[in-house]
Amino acid sequence: MNHTGLWILGNQLDPDLGVSTSVPVLMIESKQWVRQIPYHKQKIVLVWSAMRHFAQHLRDQGYRVTYIQSEDFQSTVAQFIQTEHLTTLQLMEPADWPLKQGIQSWELPIEFTPDRHFLWSISEFFDWANQRTRLVLEDFYRLTRQRFTILIDQGQPVGGQWNFDPENRRPPKKGLNPPLAPQFPPDDLTRQVITEVETYFPEHFGTTDTFNWGVTRADALRALEDFCTYRLAGFGPYQDIMLTDEATLWHSLISPYLNLGLLRPLEVIERAVAQPGVPLNSLEGFVRQILGWREYIRGVYWLKMPNYAQSNYFDHHQPLPDFFWTGQTSMHCLHDVIQQIQTTAYAHHIQRLMILGNFMLISGIDPQAGEVWFHAATVDAYDWVMQTNALGMALFADGGVLATKPYAASANYINKMSNYCADCTFDPKIKFGPRACPFNYFYWDFLLRNQTQLIRQGRMGLVLKHLEKFTPDEIQIIHDQAIQFWHFQEFYKR
Ligand code: FAD
Ligand code: SF4
Repeated sequence: MNHTGLWILGNQLDPDLGVSTSVPVLMIESKQWVRQIPYHKQKIVLVWSAMRHFAQHLRDQGYRVTYIQSEDFQSTVAQFIQTEHLTTLQLMEPADWPLKQGIQSWELPIEFTPDRHFLWSISEFFDWANQRTRLVLEDFYRLTRQRFTILIDQGQPVGGQWNFDPENRRPPKKGLNPPLAPQFPPDDLTRQVITEVETYFPEHFGTTDTFNWGVTRADALRALEDFCTYRLAGFGPYQDIMLTDEATLWHSLISPYLNLGLLRPLEVIERAVAQPGVPLNSLEGFVRQILGWREYIRGVYWLKMPNYAQSNYFDHHQPLPDFFWTGQTSMHCLHDVIQQIQTTAYAHHIQRLMILGNFMLISGIDPQAGEVWFHAATVDAYDWVMQTNALGMALFADGGVLATKPYAASANYINKMSNYCADCTFDPKIKFGPRACPFNYFYWDFLLRNQTQLIRQGRMGLVLKHLEKFTPDEIQIIHDQAIQFWHFQEFYKR
């Protein structure tokens, strides 16, 4: 006689279980999982509150749910299989490589079902990747648009172009008035989880006082509606700007819900495409993020794991400075973004890439330490999305598997795309001396230190040409300033 059960992971809160109410369901809240990394308190609250709300929703539908708070997964799963006399325990394929490997090693009767939270299956992505010498996002994105017929008319891209970047990514202008983000005040259940998290994990990063994330599918759908109605139209032109005290701008804030399974990628894209009056540059720019980047990041992760996690192309070993955990630095851009993350567990893409990641890259911070910090700091972080984004996109530790050149930039970029520099102790235009912006001397030092590796990256030739303009004395000063930064960190404290 066949007895099947279903195990649902905390990031698999898909409303469609695909099994009848007679199938017993297991959900586990594991403290061991939380202790692996000093996760932002809001991340733990979000996942546990969403799980408890989801379990309640299943019970309301007639499912018999065993919800266990336990130290670890393995013994709890084994016990459940025994108690329920199961011959098979179904589990949607975990999105994270280490968890899947761990579960496979248990030798329990666990059967993986396909992951429904992505458009491409892993084997389909492998088939695509294995036919190519170089993995290029643009090729993958165009193919995915055609495969799912999104913004395609008779085989051609709507509007005659695949990409509207020249109309997007504008610098900020005066008088911008970003729309308010939706509010999700904690209900009783979420407040209870907040108390537990503050009790058991007081030393973890961030604060729970300002928790404002949705915890149910209804909340996630409201977040999506709010974005499509009020912010999608402005997404394209303003997606790269950064403003003090403006955390959310025209961004969607839906990554936590997509990554928990509360929203599905195709429904998000279809809802965005259905929104009337959205300029094509904004719509295409948004579709590219989910249809292109999200799928691609996850595909490359599965293709390259497990070795990917150890990559360190530039052989960087500088320890992560303390200010990443405290925000106590006189570099205003870093101070502002880190404080924002402490209170919201969120930073938008350019803050992650061009402020936090850029600083880690050009100052030579150990990529694995950087990855752990990103993983701890943001509400939407999981192994599948963090290894490739942090190690590949931000830190170029994979030597160019994911990005065609390092996202390294001096203060010039930050000054152009934000208003951070106006309130800073340092001067974004100065390279030498006490008021020199650290992003400047670290940028040039990074290029000078890594010329050999960078020259191999085809797109770096023009940038490296600038190095010829420096005199030997200037090169020495740049190098000395970069070294002194680490010796005189007190000077950079706020
Ligand atoms: P929007 O700016 O509104 O974009 C829409 C959606 O596109 C996002 O919700 C997300 O689902 C998707 N998306 C866009 N770019 C990416 C990408 N590179 N990888 C995956 N999805 C993408 N995203 C995460 O979901 N979890 C992470 O832990 C995470 N860590 C990151 C770390 C670094 C160093 C960098 C550079 C990027 C990281 N990203 C991560 C990607 C991206 O920054 C976030 O998805 C985005 O900022 C989430 O905010 P949003 O929902 O408002 O996104
Ligand atoms: Fe950041 Fe430099 Fe601008 Fe200060 S001057 S905000 S450190 S880029």
